[in-house]
Amino acid sequence: MDSLVPPSLNELIEQLSELPGVGRKTAMRYAFWLMEQNEDYLSTLGDRIAHIKEAVTMCQRCFRSFERQMCDICTDNTRENIICVVESTEDLVQIERTGDYNGRYHVLGGAIDPLKGVNPEDLTLSELTDHVRTIGTAEVILATNPTMQGDTTATYIRQMLEREDGVQVTTLGRGLATGANLEYLDGETVKNALKNRR
Ligand SMILES: [Zn+2]
Repeated sequence: MDSLVPPSLNELIEQLSELPGVGRKTAMRYAFWLMEQNEDYLSTLGDRIAHIKEAVTMCQRCFRSFERQMCDICTDNTRENIICVVESTEDLVQIERTGDYNGRYHVLGGAIDPLKGVNPEDLTLSELTDHVRTIGTAEVILATNPTMQGDTTATYIRQMLEREDGVQVTTLGRGLATGANLEYLDGETVKNALKNRR
C-alpha cells in the first residue's frame, strides 16, 4: 500500500498489477491515466469488463473462446481434418494468424501443473479424445508451450492417444527456445515450427 495514493485508487492499482505483464509501476500509471478520462469512457470500459464472461462462451467441440456454441473453424468444411492441440485460445490465434495452417484446433485450457493443482482432469483431455473420434482425424499436432508443464502435457496426450487406432501424433518443430510461450512468438517462428513438425 502506498500512503501517498488515496486508498480507493490503491485498490485499483492492486487489481491492475495482477494483469499479465503489468507491474506496480505500470498499474499506477494506468490508474492515474484512467482518472483523467471522462465518465463515458470509464463506464463503457467498466461495462465491457463486467460482461466479458457473458458474451464469450466456449466452442463445445474445440473449447476455443467464442461467441457461439460451435465456432467458425469447427463448422468450416474446407478445413483439413487434422487437430492442432494448444493450451489457450491465445495460442490458437497466434497459429491462425500465420495463415499457414488450415486444420482444426483443440484448446486444453492450460497445462498439467501439479504444483498449481492443475491435474489432467482439469483440462479438456477426454474431450480431445471425443474430438478425435468425432471428426476421425488421422493426425494430432501437439503445440503446447515449450515449458516443463507444456512438455508434461504433451507426453500425457501422446500416451493417451496411443490407444486410438490410426491417429498419428506429431509435435511442433522445436526451433522454439525452451521457456518461450507460443503467444510471444512471431508468425515466422510458428510457421517454421509447423513446417518442421515430427
Ligand atoms: Zn471450435
